[in-house]
Amino acid sequence: MKIVVDWDRCEANGVCMRVAPESFLLDEKDTLHVLNEQVTPELRAKVEKAVRDCPRQALSLSQSE
Ligand code: SF4
Repeated sequence: MKIVVDWDRCEANGVCMRVAPESFLLDEKDTLHVLNEQVTPELRAKVEKAVRDCPRQALSLSQSE
């Protein structure tokens, strides 16, 4: 399972980083980085919450890979 970001929708508000800091980092220039595209079983619940909580619906999970 892999994290997919719709960069046209993301407004870099950092909600995902607060929910899942292991997977998302907002840098000092307000650029979002996905730290690990592949979602490990340990992080899955947090990443799924980040996907749900993103106010811009910019996050999704791809089943491929
Ligand atoms: S929560 Fe959504 S809009 Fe906010 S930084 Fe993360 S992906 Fe972008």
